Amino acid sequence: MSNNKERVCIIGGGPAGLSSAMYLEKKGYENYVIYEKQGKVGGKCYSPKIKVKHNGVEEEKSFETGAIMGAITYHAVSEMEEFGGYHHKGPDFKEGEPNMRREFRTLDGVIDEWSNPKANFSFKKLFGLLRLKKQMKRLNKLMQTKYVGYDCYGHLGVAKGEYYGISKGVDGHCGATKENSFPNYIKGTNPNLKDLALPFSEFCKLNKVEEVQRIWIAPFTSFGYGFFDEIPTALVMKYLDVTTALEFVNLRLWTWQDGTQEIYIHVNDKLKHPAILNTEVVKVERPEGGKIKVTISQDGKESVEEFDKLIVTTPLDLFKDYADASEEEKELFGKIIHEKYCDYIATFEEGKSPNISGYMVENMVPERLGHAMVYYNRWQCLDRDCPATVYALRNHAGSEDVSFEYTMKTMDEDMKRVGFPIKDKLYAQEVYYCPHVSPKDYAEGWYDKLEALQGKRNTFYAGEIISFGDMEDTCAASKDIIGRFF
Ligand SMILES: Cc1cc2nc3c(=O)[nH]c(=O)nc-3n(C[C@H](O)[C@H](O)[C@H](O)COP(=O)(O)OP(=O)(O)OC[C@H]3O[C@@H](n4cnc5c(N)ncnc54)[C@H](O)[C@@H]3O)c2cc1C
Repeated sequence: MSNNKERVCIIGGGPAGLSSAMYLEKKGYENYVIYEKQGKVGGKCYSPKIKVKHNGVEEEKSFETGAIMGAITYHAVSEMEEFGGYHHKGPDFKEGEPNMRREFRTLDGVIDEWSNPKANFSFKKLFGLLRLKKQMKRLNKLMQTKYVGYDCYGHLGVAKGEYYGISKGVDGHCGATKENSFPNYIKGTNPNLKDLALPFSEFCKLNKVEEVQRIWIAPFTSFGYGFFDEIPTALVMKYLDVTTALEFVNLRLWTWQDGTQEIYIHVNDKLKHPAILNTEVVKVERPEGGKIKVTISQDGKESVEEFDKLIVTTPLDLFKDYADASEEEKELFGKIIHEKYCDYIATFEEGKSPNISGYMVENMVPERLGHAMVYYNRWQCLDRDCPATVYALRNHAGSEDVSFEYTMKTMDEDMKRVGFPIKDKLYAQEVYYCPHVSPKDYAEGWYDKLEALQGKRNTFYAGEIISFGDMEDTCAASKDIIGRFF
């Protein structure tokens, strides 16, 4: 029974924590607290401002260390924008706005026009592209027919051949339209959905659409979400549903002039209780029948606060170690895997920064862990001395991880090889990225087991694990959890 006078603790001031607070307020809850361990909100949307020179004049521009883009399918993020009063640019880019144009480069630095039939024309290339087009059409049709119900947030029931969740309102599936799609719940049975537990590469083979991986790989693998032989299809297709994937291909994307972090700074400013910064939750005790005791650490000092309910938006595999986790929680959360995604913002030797973003598809294979997969030049309108961000993954299921140091060095070598020699690194990081479970655990109903834990011991789980590790899915997960349980 919901009672909006109850005191609610939210762990984490990233998109998931702040959207939880926003949706709580919308339901009349005002007695909540958000604890954020860092000195800033926005989590992995950190967008520092860096001074750059343009036509000899110095100016400050935002650079993103994490989230960059959105798409027309970002409904929950739109609600955050509305609440905070801060809106995106795009999908058509104007002069002076962050630009998502990109090219493909071979490791020898040659521009690879693989998708342009006229460039280096050959019948082999033409037939390859026609095959790809045919398979794209086939996949789109399959998703609307054989896999009806795939396009809702979250994974409830999928392992049993069912679906239940907020419709993404894409592709006009399941009766959803742009007008009624959010927050329209869809529910049904479709045994074919069990295929979504398969690794994406196997799913494509099963459905004879193997070529489409060429389209999906760039926005998926290069953006750190893992390799297609290790990630359940559900994660790939729920994030990059056909509509969103085509928005990527056609570069019809959203960006934020001052960086994605600004969305959350604005939301935080509008909340009745903005996040309490530099405050880490270090212990959680949930005695039977009593209040939840949350131990926080601020400036090295610990204190205890009491709450009626707890919303965890932070990694659950870490939560189990500082909370009084039950055996069930320990077992379930212990199965979570995450990607080890590394990136840096770098300056380049004089006049040699990339003037457009680029994908290096040859590096998007597990054999080349630690190699640069993509570089992002956000400010294509500026001089060729502008910094850019470079990204690589250092793990793959079944392979040994490569080290962070090796990854940094290898990325430098790759950038030099393609013609963009790095001068300095302004910022470098590895992030806990895209938490998920293996195809086997997915097939065994991991997400339904998590659902069964929702609300037990007055604890609710939100954040990236619920649906997918992007801004939209995390914010939509908050909407779903708050909507159904509060
Ligand atoms: C390089 C990169 C590129 C990306 N690109 C995109 C993109 O283009 N589009 C997109 O939609 N998404 C993108 N993402 C993903 C997106 O940033 C994340 O999915 C999103 O930030 C997840 O939000 P969250 O709140 O669940 O987690 P987080 O953003 O990780 O926030 C969690 C917060 O909890 C805090 N915290 C953790 N533990 C504790 C504790 N014990 N006590 C208190 N606070 C704690 C952390 O400090 C953090 O602020 C990208 C991410 C990265 C790193």
